[in-house]
Amino acid sequence: MDFAAKIRLIKDFPRPGINFRDITTLLQDREAFPKAVDAMAGLCRGIEVDLIACPESRGFILGAPLAYAMGKGLVLFRKPGKLPGKTLQYCYQLEYGSDALEVHQDAILPGQKVLLVDDVLATGGTMAAAVELVKQSGGQVAGILFLMELLGLGGRDKLGNHPVLTLIKCD
Ligand code: 5GP
Repeated sequence: MDFAAKIRLIKDFPRPGINFRDITTLLQDREAFPKAVDAMAGLCRGIEVDLIACPESRGFILGAPLAYAMGKGLVLFRKPGKLPGKTLQYCYQLEYGSDALEVHQDAILPGQKVLLVDDVLATGGTMAAAVELVKQSGGQVAGILFLMELLGLGGRDKLGNHPVLTLIKCD
């Protein structure tokens, strides 16, 4: 299936000059969405995984069905103040300002192999923060999986030597 054709380009969102890849058109397609999840799970064949973890919020949409399909538990990386238990936090810089992700401090056990999942790899800042939280937790990054990679933004360069797997690549 041509998954790239299922994703819509919205110009000048959320700010003038940004070309936003809108994945809602793929999600609302009852054939494309499950096929994309299965294809993403297929990319991970051969990688040993204990847990799947995903950043808020679009990461949840793909992380949850992948955890179900792969028979793994799901860990949520959330924006500050959302998780009820004790958390670890990592702050990161955005183009304008900063943001942070949190994870329950007992969600990832030392040595567990974590597959990180998100919808889009752009500059890599969000996923680099997720990688740091896995490390703070004592886990190992088994791989990093995206529905779509935006080429030319240097996102991969922020993700170290971990295997980075992407279903769709676009310029
Ligand atoms: P990064 O941190 O790699 O610059 O941006 C990735 C994060 O921002 C992801 O969590 C993703 O959901 C969101 N993001 C950035 N650009 C896009 C885009 O064009 N489309 C979508 N759907 N999400 C984006």
